[in-house]
Amino acid sequence: MTQYVHMFSDGDRDQKDLLGGKGANLAEMVKLGLPVPPGFTITTEACRAYLTVGKVPPEVRVEVTQRLRDVEDLIGRTLGDSEEPLLLSVRSGAKFSMPGMMETVLNVGLNDDTVHSLAAFAGDERFAWDSYRRLIQMFGKTVLDIDSEHFSDILEAHKVAAGVTADVELSADHLKQVVADFKQVVERETGSPFPQTPRRQVDMAIEAVFRSWNTERARLYRRRERIADDLGTAVNVQAMVFGNLGETSGTGVCFTRDPSSGHSGVYGDYLPNAQGEDVVAGIRNTLALTDLQERDPAAYKELRTAMRRLETHYRDLCDIEFTIERGTLWMLQTRVGKRTAGAAFRIATQLVDEQLITMNEALERVTGEQLGQLLFPQFDKDAERIHIATGMGASPGAAVGGVAFDNASAVARQESGLPVILVRRETSPEDLPGMIAAAGVLTARGGKTSHAAVVARGMGKCAVVGAEDLVVDVAAKEIRVGEHVIHEGDTIAIDGKTGEVFLGDVSVVDSPVMTYISEGVEAAVAHLDDEETRELVEAVHRLLTHADEVRRLRVRANADTGEDAQRARDRGAEGIGLCRTEHQFLGERRTQIERVVLAKDDTERDAALAELLPEQIGDFIDLLTAMDGLPTTIRLIDPPLHEFLPDLTDLSVAVALADERGETGEEVERNRALLEAVRATHESNPMLGLRGVRLGLKIPGLFALQIRAIAEAVVRLRAEGKDPQPEIMVPLIGSNRELVIVRRQAEEILAEVSEVTGQTLDIPIGCMIELPRAALTANRIAQTADFFSFGTNDLTQTTWGFSRDDVETAFFPKYLENGVLTISPFETLDALGVGELVKIGIEKGRSTKPGLKAGVCGEHGGDPESIHFFNAAGLDYVSCSPFRVPVARLEAGRAVVLTDEVGTR
Ligand code: PEP
Ligand code: MG
Repeated sequence: MTQYVHMFSDGDRDQKDLLGGKGANLAEMVKLGLPVPPGFTITTEACRAYLTVGKVPPEVRVEVTQRLRDVEDLIGRTLGDSEEPLLLSVRSGAKFSMPGMMETVLNVGLNDDTVHSLAAFAGDERFAWDSYRRLIQMFGKTVLDIDSEHFSDILEAHKVAAGVTADVELSADHLKQVVADFKQVVERETGSPFPQTPRRQVDMAIEAVFRSWNTERARLYRRRERIADDLGTAVNVQAMVFGNLGETSGTGVCFTRDPSSGHSGVYGDYLPNAQGEDVVAGIRNTLALTDLQERDPAAYKELRTAMRRLETHYRDLCDIEFTIERGTLWMLQTRVGKRTAGAAFRIATQLVDEQLITMNEALERVTGEQLGQLLFPQFDKDAERIHIATGMGASPGAAVGGVAFDNASAVARQESGLPVILVRRETSPEDLPGMIAAAGVLTARGGKTSHAAVVARGMGKCAVVGAEDLVVDVAAKEIRVGEHVIHEGDTIAIDGKTGEVFLGDVSVVDSPVMTYISEGVEAAVAHLDDEETRELVEAVHRLLTHADEVRRLRVRANADTGEDAQRARDRGAEGIGLCRTEHQFLGERRTQIERVVLAKDDTERDAALAELLPEQIGDFIDLLTAMDGLPTTIRLIDPPLHEFLPDLTDLSVAVALADERGETGEEVERNRALLEAVRATHESNPMLGLRGVRLGLKIPGLFALQIRAIAEAVVRLRAEGKDPQPEIMVPLIGSNRELVIVRRQAEEILAEVSEVTGQTLDIPIGCMIELPRAALTANRIAQTADFFSFGTNDLTQTTWGFSRDDVETAFFPKYLENGVLTISPFETLDALGVGELVKIGIEKGRSTKPGLKAGVCGEHGGDPESIHFFNAAGLDYVSCSPFRVPVARLEAGRAVVLTDEVGTR
């Protein structure tokens, strides 16, 4: 029979699927002998059952009764007892922590009777009534779905009436009145009184957690993070301990290392005489953990021991929530802590140096996405800047954008293509859509562990919190600071590392990690005067070098010019996987191709082509020089034709206007001729039309010219003692016959140049596999191709029948919302469909030609998840944009260590 409810003492950290992250880690802490208040976890399986049938399975209620009695026995208090009542916390805890679902209810079990028992038992009436008002407030909001403002308005009104500013200053009598008012709100808003039966409170809270799996916010977060919608959440029910029992009590959050810098040490926030959410909500400003050392040395020492034990056990930075109840330490939660990208690299190498993890494990703990963040430019310190405030740098990066004060305007601004900074007094889970839309987040209140900070770090988004000089007036939609008044839409700049806030735009420069990538470790470190950044650069260097050592995939770049190629090479590219030669003819040179395409006869066309030859030789010399000694795949021209011709509508209008005005002359005649030609070649679906090899076969001189230019460039470079390594690639092959024709032509040209120059020109000739038919007939194509390169952009377009130019804006948002897609297949390879064609292509190709070299040059070549797929599929290399090269190197290494290939090779 399925067991739906487990005591903490029954589980361990490997059971995250069943117990959720929080439950599994609580179980692990119990196993480690740390002081955890007793409790139990209701499994994700129970939640899934609830979501399927729409009600809590009766077995769950029975098991809850049994485990509740176990907790009562362990702690010696009973739920609803008139002398020593047991109070409980009820929290959600899914496998992945989800800021969209912070549904926590504390003090469950309090009612009009037990509030008196609690007061007597704790010897503190004020505390008891404060706990009761918190229960009604949290229960009202989370379980009964009452707008939280009803409660905060009442609390505020009572504070004003009592002439106090902080909640803690309200007396027991005040709080009794608050409770009475809160109960009225509940009755008014729900039509029923606040539930007085403790067990009923427990059951309602559990069901509310299950329900909260499907809140709008949680769904949004899951979509963004690509977390499956059917995992469900676990529920943790735990005996309450109290941080609000006076000055010897308190609650806090800490990290075993600084989550921003990675340095080992004491790092955290502590709030005396407070409960649970007060710290993360950033409502009151917290003390540093070191202050706890002075206030309560014994509890502090015990906490430090627990921190060390957890870090040793998890062999990683842990993030901990704790409460001190009258001098006794209780551990409420731990997990492997979220961290900034820089800290991830530093922590990983520090743990290696402390001999807690191996280099391979260190590589598992950093991601290409994090490396990508470290490559982002930073603010130029020497630029003119108007500094207006400094808060805490909570998540690094540099962001510039227009101010938005709420979700709707943040999203609207972002959708119209403008960068936005979300500015809030403090953030709450409701702000998630705005945070997703924003380039950066700025708050006036809250510490480094506040909601805004934690969520922004998780998203890799720049954040500055607690900039207290800012008066954020959301109602008036303005920020006042000193003599400045900033309105919605005004530009500000925030530095998530230093916490600085600037008015207006600020220019940016290369990050130190970027300088390392392009100039090497010595040069990068030589520029640096601060120790932390130096450590970061060295950590990245060590991990990237290790990735280079273990990876099997080669990493090439997509680059079209000598300059791009050089940039790619500087970043560690081991060749060019794709030079899109059509890009060499965009801009001013576009008309050269136009002349070739629109030529009236062979003579005119040959003349146009002859003009192109010297320029193409120059292009290839530049490219091959930059990539000297490394493989350089040059793709023969692949335009959708319309990209090289004037626009049909523009031309039609120009001609019609000229006709109407009776204009004549050379220009008009030229336009008329052009219009005729453009009409003749006009296509309804240019992406499925005269492109790639089709154009090459229709206008043979075009490919011939390019092949000749490649050969000539090789000859000239060899004469200079260089070692050019071009590979000729034919695009959009669907049939082997197409390749046979192009290959024959190419071989003739190469032989001709060879004969004239006396040089051997054994240049490989291969093709793109970017149409489903090419993948399905790869065994035949491999008879003719020396190599394959998967064009996963077109392969995605043609497999799904999605126009790559249109669909992402046309209907992907809808598809992402309703779950048809979890991410754009143009971004991350659709492993099930397009990936299957890639596998078939490799397998069939190599069945004809064992060891056939195969790479990928679509955008997916730089996408971490897709790189792991390509590694497993047995490709030889990935090719991506020069900027992504370091990311691809790191991920190619991670792909190996994560699949344990290292040990077997
Ligand atoms: C592709 O289709 O994946 C590819 C690399 O070619 P392009 O993007 O130039 O069509
Ligand atoms: Mg393509």
